[in-house]
Parts: sequence; C-alpha cells; structure tokens
Amino acid sequence: MIKPIMKDVFFLNQKSEPATKADQQVVQDLLDTLKANEAGCVGMAANMIGVKKQIIAVNMGFANIPMINPVIIKKSAPYEAEEGCLSLTGVRKTVRYREIEVEFLDANWKKQKQKYSGWIAQIIQHEIDHCHGIVI
Ligand SMILES: [Zn+2]
Repeated sequence: MIKPIMKDVFFLNQKSEPATKADQQVVQDLLDTLKANEAGCVGMAANMIGVKKQIIAVNMGFANIPMINPVIIKKSAPYEAEEGCLSLTGVRKTVRYREIEVEFLDANWKKQKQKYSGWIAQIIQHEIDHCHGIVI
C-alpha cells in the first residue's frame, strides 16, 4: 500500500528498532511507496512512511530491493557527497564511502552479505542513516 511521506523531523530523528517477520507488510508498503515516488526518489527507509523499523528499499536500477536490518560491516574510500532527501527540502553535504559491505535479511528473511560501490552504496548509506535517526 502506498503511504504518505513522513516529514516530521522530530519523528525522523528517532532510531528505528530491528524488524521482525511481523513487519512483512511494512516491507511491501515501503516497496509500493518507493515505486510511487520513483521519479524523485531512489531509496526509502521505513521511518519515512511512519514506521520505526530497520527496513530500507533501494532502487538498484533493475529493481527495487528491500533490505531488512541492514548493517554496514566494512567501508572504505570516504568522499564528500551532496544529497537530497524526499523528507527534506534542498541538498546537504555529507561524507560517504565508495565501497561498503552490508549484512542484511532479504525479502525472504534470508541472511545476505553483499559488496556495493558508487551510487548504489551511497543510497544504501543514506537509507541506513535514516534507520539510525540521522537525516543528512
Ligand atoms: Zn532521505
């Protein structure tokens, strides 16, 4: 189900809890809402649809991929990036890493470990920040 985008900074600054299988519907809602906002948005975290759970969805070009309880376990090659956010107006500067390795549960709740770089890595870092209550 497509949900409205949360813009309340007080809410967005709170940390999200680990997700459980009871949050299956949130995963679907997040994918639906990302799809509906595809024109201006390449990734989304569950708190952006009002749910404080550690779930993100990332546009990887070929598909929108959900990541449940994502954790960055390795990062290298920092650089300064300028980013926008659907929950904010304008762009802001932040430090990102070109190479990251992420552990997460996939749509079937199977544990995955993947390396990402460049643009996709940047989106993942932005969305994981949302899970920690960090809005760029
Ligand atoms: Zn954002």
